Amino acid sequence: MAKSKNTTADIAIAGAGYVGMSLAVALKQAAPHLDVVVIDPAPQGAFRNDPRASAIAAAAARMLTQFGVWNDLLKDSQPIREMVVTDSKLADPVRPVYLTFGSVERKDSEPFAHMVPNSALLAALHEKAKKAGVRTMPRHIVADFSRSGGTTQLSLQNVETQKSATAITRLLIACDGVKSKLRDLAGIKTVYWPYDQMGIVTTVAHERDHEGRAEEHFLPAGPFATLPLPGKRSSIVWTEPTREAKRLLALDDFEFEIELEQRFGLQLGEISVAGPRNAYPLGLTLARSTIKDGLALCGDAAHGIHPIAGQGLNLGFKDVAALAQTIVEADRLGLDFSSVNALERYEQWRRFDTVQMGVTTDVLNRLFSNDNPLVTAARDLGLGLVDRMPRMKDFFINQAASRKGGFGERIMGPQPKLLSGVPI
Ligand SMILES: Cc1cc2nc3c(=O)[nH]c(=O)nc-3n(C[C@H](O)[C@H](O)[C@H](O)COP(=O)(O)OP(=O)(O)OC[C@H]3O[C@@H](n4cnc5c(N)ncnc54)[C@H](O)[C@@H]3O)c2cc1C
Repeated sequence: MAKSKNTTADIAIAGAGYVGMSLAVALKQAAPHLDVVVIDPAPQGAFRNDPRASAIAAAAARMLTQFGVWNDLLKDSQPIREMVVTDSKLADPVRPVYLTFGSVERKDSEPFAHMVPNSALLAALHEKAKKAGVRTMPRHIVADFSRSGGTTQLSLQNVETQKSATAITRLLIACDGVKSKLRDLAGIKTVYWPYDQMGIVTTVAHERDHEGRAEEHFLPAGPFATLPLPGKRSSIVWTEPTREAKRLLALDDFEFEIELEQRFGLQLGEISVAGPRNAYPLGLTLARSTIKDGLALCGDAAHGIHPIAGQGLNLGFKDVAALAQTIVEADRLGLDFSSVNALERYEQWRRFDTVQMGVTTDVLNRLFSNDNPLVTAARDLGLGLVDRMPRMKDFFINQAASRKGGFGERIMGPQPKLLSGVPI
């Protein structure tokens, strides 16, 4: 379909986060003739300040390899080679291990995930997007939009000068995060419930090497995850009820370190806090629909889940692979990629996986943020059983890594090309 004279961009992406920038790179690499613009309120370069690291699963790593950013990221990343799950009370002197996953036991020995610093990831995506010819509009938000005659008119606002501007696009893609304003403006409802929990994130330095081992300690207040970083450091994702999280955040450094040590333990020697503390309110948000005529939701704008399994961004990367392929293949056939007919393929591709992951993380959180002795006994029995079933463990690893032939693929058909490491 030819671009109309008034069109400012074929595709406008609202949100220059991990998902928005990945989508821009995927589209521009596969269809360089499409004009792609990314709009975000942050000043250029402000993204470099995110101190967090994310567990990036094997499927997403295959896509990032296709983008040409993965090899550079590897030097700052740490492969997760083993995962240990424990279930105990805070004061218990020992934490029995109920479940272990080790990628080293596997024939292919592909780590099921890497811990990648968020700032390095975003910087690499921005650089790649620039080289590919993606245009960016920093310091702007999409304040409103309307659809008519096959194009979408955008009202843009400069967040510094408050000046307004307009733009016209064929397709608007909302990658504006879990509180998506664009989703609200489009009248798309969500299934939402808050968990009354916060995820505290920080970095810890320790005396001994973690040897690539991640640990998930299921404590009565919620999961406490330690995720290996390069060097003798680990990233902490620590779930607490909101009130307790606020109390912990208000502690001075010494008191905070004592609380942290109680949960982290001394198996890696003395520990010290080696990064800022941040906390994020947790909830489940699932958009009831992810498409409309001229609009698609992608990443957290479509779904926000509990970080218990470290899968939020991985889900977003799967959206990117599916949406980019949907758009590019429709365009190659000469179809209008902004129509609901074309975008339906994206929604169908992603719906089952998204709902499955949302429900799984919700159930896991309810099951493990729980002190009831009956529930505790039942879940420990379940974990112990899974630990003794290698095929079951393989199933979980294949799911997390989106390996070929997995359960998801049997239900939804072949996974998007980029997730298999194949260009669109
Ligand atoms: C504690 C915690 C730990 C986590 N750990 C992991 C992990 O290990 N692995 C994993 O896979 N996931 C993890 N996640 C989830 C992951 O952080 C999110 O899924 C991811 O950040 C979503 O990326 P996004 O690009 O969709 O949204 P965001 O990162 O929220 O980006 C949204 C962007 O939109 C911009 N924006 C907002 N409004 C507008 C507007 N009106 N117009 C234009 N732009 C706008 C914002 O400035 C921002 O740049 C974790 C989450 C939490 C809370």
